[in-house]
Amino acid sequence: MSTKIIDGKDAARILREKVALDVSKLESQPGLAVILVGDDPASKIYVRNKIKACESVGIRSFESRLPAKATEAEVTAEIQAFNDNPNVHGILLQLPVPKPLDGNRLVQMIAPEKDVDGLSFVNAGKLASGARDGLVPCTPQGALILIKSVLPDLTGMEAVVIGRSNLFGKPMAQLLLQENCTVTTAHSRTRGLKEVCARADILVAAVGQARMVKGDWVNPGACVIDVGINRDDDGKLCGDVDFDEVKDIAGAIAPVPGGVGPMTIACLLANTVNAYTSILEKKTAELSTQGQ
Ligand code: NDP
Repeated sequence: MSTKIIDGKDAARILREKVALDVSKLESQPGLAVILVGDDPASKIYVRNKIKACESVGIRSFESRLPAKATEAEVTAEIQAFNDNPNVHGILLQLPVPKPLDGNRLVQMIAPEKDVDGLSFVNAGKLASGARDGLVPCTPQGALILIKSVLPDLTGMEAVVIGRSNLFGKPMAQLLLQENCTVTTAHSRTRGLKEVCARADILVAAVGQARMVKGDWVNPGACVIDVGINRDDDGKLCGDVDFDEVKDIAGAIAPVPGGVGPMTIACLLANTVNAYTSILEKKTAELSTQGQ
């Protein structure tokens, strides 16, 4: 059997081109604000990449940098200023934030219509209840696009998601459920994880443990999506899936690097344009009600 290697870079390029085209047709420029608290080197790189990506598709970027010792009130004030800024349509608080700040609490301060990470209770609730008008977290959204690039109809398939974080595992499971999969969400307390994984038609790993998913965990022909970002003992970037073991067993595999990772930023750009459109539609509806 030949395994398809899912090319996340190419899928992300296509999505970015679509976003750039959508932006070019808009009456004004969508804006994305990124808030970075502290000096974590990885976070700084992520923020720089997000700002560069905005520029490449015509989205205006706003950046706010706060010191690691910023208080909750200071971060909240920054979020509030972007909530009130009509040129800003998407707001992203780069996570994790330095302790003792609570990232989960702070993201709730972002206006739900500008919450392009989809982490507010409103957007998480919309996704869980099947409403289609919320903002969906970027990485699971990107993972679903990759899955559907090889399996256009997921109806009735067994999907196993390893990981139950609010950022990835839970929204991924909700998206697969919306696609009519039979979904199992596995985690650190799951019994017989290998056997649970081995029955999956779609196996998504988002754990943070280098090469944990082995060849005999995978149902032959399954679609395997690796989300993990890890460094192995040699400092080499790798995912949660043992690519060398799985590559001849899976039907398709999104590898690390080059799979889900590039989709995350592309989906962030798409979410910013979606937020822009929803905010504009809401404003237009309000104006027409006032005019009646
Ligand atoms: P979290 O640490 O929040 O969640 C990890 C999940 O894995 C938890 O639900 C945990 O279970 C589960 N887990 C941990 N150990 C095991 C185990 N031995 N067996 C089964 N389940 C286990 O991480 P995230 O969801 O934020 O991220 C997961 C991975 O995905 C990370 O490597 C992260 O870097 C990567 N990531 C990549 C992104 C990208 O853009 N490509 C974006 C987001 C994340 P429990 O709940 O029981 O503790």
